[in-house]
Amino acid sequence: MSIFPLDHRPDSSQISEFFQEVRCAAMEFVFPPACMMCRSEMPHRIFRTAGCTLCDDCLGQLDSGHGNACRRCGAPVGPFTIATDHCILCHRENYAFDGVIRMGLYRDSLRVACLMAKNPSGSLMSRTLADLLVDTQYELFSERAFHAVVPVPEHWAKRLIRPHYAAETMARQISARLKVRLATGILAKARWTPKQAKSPPVQRRQQQKDAFHVVGAGVQGQSILLVDDILTTGATADAAARVLKRAGASRVVVAVVAVSPPRA
Ligand SMILES: [Zn+2]
Ligand SMILES: [Zn+2]
Repeated sequence: MSIFPLDHRPDSSQISEFFQEVRCAAMEFVFPPACMMCRSEMPHRIFRTAGCTLCDDCLGQLDSGHGNACRRCGAPVGPFTIATDHCILCHRENYAFDGVIRMGLYRDSLRVACLMAKNPSGSLMSRTLADLLVDTQYELFSERAFHAVVPVPEHWAKRLIRPHYAAETMARQISARLKVRLATGILAKARWTPKQAKSPPVQRRQQQKDAFHVVGAGVQGQSILLVDDILTTGATADAAARVLKRAGASRVVVAVVAVSPPRA
């Protein structure tokens, strides 16, 4: 909760924020908050990080055991690997994107959290995961200058029946955290694609071929941060990055919360 210094006259937004904090603190006194994942009781707001809705145990589980990542495809690489611009899994791939920034692997607690974020009521979890992605990978984000944050879009008809869409909510939060313009209107999904979870990689690429199109000329010469929640085979991100590049984007880097672990 912010306390105003005596020599500073607060503006209306600060006063409103102050009363919002007071109201939340009063609500928490009556209804103690619970961790979004394990439902255990959380410490009172003034004893925990502002806005955090996960207990320390769950936060620790989400943020551990992911190891080093290949900067090109996000796959896990050994702790002593120095050249991480490509790895054994991606050196023959012709991805249209220039790199991947990811938090962890799509398994255990992070998988559960990603599934919660996809739920119609998963807006808060989506924002929390986006915050964790920025916090844990801040160095990689700040290495490159981005002109725009673009979510991997969903077909408009699907958007009509969903109150929230994880990639878009995450992109909005990442845009706010990095102070980079959010551009939701420049990439659109041209057609409805089937759910890909059970499709083999080759079929996924076929399904995503020409699935996206760029609206207008707003990406010419721009460095784009393309946001999705999960990267599985890379087919969706590759198809989206390909049309952005074709429309003149100078660079496309993909940011995801999790990548699928390599198949054994
Ligand atoms: Zn918890
Ligand atoms: Zn790789």
